[in-house]
Amino acid sequence: MGKLSQILFLTASAGRVFASCAYGTHLMPRAEEGEAVPVATFGYTGITGPHNWAALDSPANNVCATGTTQSPIDMVDSVFELIDASALSIEVNDMPEGADFENLGSTVEVITQGGTLSFDNKTFELQQFHFHLPSEHLDNGTSQAMEMHMVWQSAEGEIAVVGAYINIATGAVASASVKRGLNTRSRLFQRQAEANETAPVAGTDAPTVLLETIFSVVDQISTPGTKVKTPPLVMSEVVDLLKAGQFQAYSGSLTTPPCSEGVNWRVSTSKLSISPSSFIKARDVIGFNSRFPQNTPGQPNILMISALGAAAAAVSAVGAGAA
Ligand SMILES: [Zn+2]
Repeated sequence: MGKLSQILFLTASAGRVFASCAYGTHLMPRAEEGEAVPVATFGYTGITGPHNWAALDSPANNVCATGTTQSPIDMVDSVFELIDASALSIEVNDMPEGADFENLGSTVEVITQGGTLSFDNKTFELQQFHFHLPSEHLDNGTSQAMEMHMVWQSAEGEIAVVGAYINIATGAVASASVKRGLNTRSRLFQRQAEANETAPVAGTDAPTVLLETIFSVVDQISTPGTKVKTPPLVMSEVVDLLKAGQFQAYSGSLTTPPCSEGVNWRVSTSKLSISPSSFIKARDVIGFNSRFPQNTPGQPNILMISALGAAAAAVSAVGAGAA
C-alpha cells in the first residue's frame, strides 16, 4: 500500500469510528426517558480525543479547530485581567438534602440547586459544577492536580465559568509519613497512619470539606451513565474561599465540544485541597479528562496550524515514497 493510499485508508477507518461513536451510545434511549444520565460521545484520548473533536460532529464542533479564543490556556500574566473578588457577587445555596452526582463519561458532575453570580450588570445562575483531572488551565505554566468548574448561565444564554484549582493536601501526608518512619514494623500503627491520611488535618491546606464529602461517594458512580445522591453539601466554605481571593478574568470557550466561545472565565487565585485518598478515588473514576492547552487568545487555533504542518509533511512523505 502506497503512502497516500495508507493515509486515505486511515481517514476512511476514522470515519467508521466516528459513525460508531455517534451511534453506539447505549444510554441514549434511556436519556430520552428523562431519567438516565447522558454519556458523552467524545473522549480525551485517541480518535475521539480533543485533537479530533471538530470531526466528531461537523459543523457543530468546527470552532474547536478554528476558534481563536479557545480554552483552556496557560494562565500567564499577559492573558488575563486580575480582578478583585469585590468586583463580582457570588452566592451558592447549600444542599442539605444532598445533590445528584453524575458520571457523564467525560467528567463527574454535581447538579446544583441555585446560586447566582453577578458582574458587569449581568446575572448568571449556577447550573452545575464538575471536575477535571489534571487541571485544564495551567497556573503560570504549572499543571495542578485537579480543577473544579462551576458553570453559570444568564437568562440570555451567556455562560460564565468559575475555575478553581485543586491541590493535594500535603499536611496529612507529612503527618502520616512521620508516624510511619517511627514505626515501620507496626501494622497496627500503619493502619492508624493510613486512617489519619483520610481525616482532615487542621492547617492551611486542610482538605476542602466539600470535596471530601463529594468524593466520599465517587466510587458508587464508577460506571458512565450512573448517578448517586451525595451527603448534605455545605457550599459556604468554598464560596468564602473564592471571595477571599482574586479572579483571573478572560474571554474563552467551553473546554468540551462544541467549544463555544464568548465564555466569561473567572479563574480563582484561591486553591481548594483534596486529601490523597480522595484524590486516588477521584482519579480511579475520572481517569484523564483534560483538554490540551490552547493557543494564546487572539492567536490562530493550534489545530489549524498543526493541520497545515501535517499536510506539508504528508505531501513530503508521498513525494519521498514516489522517489
Ligand atoms: Zn469543565
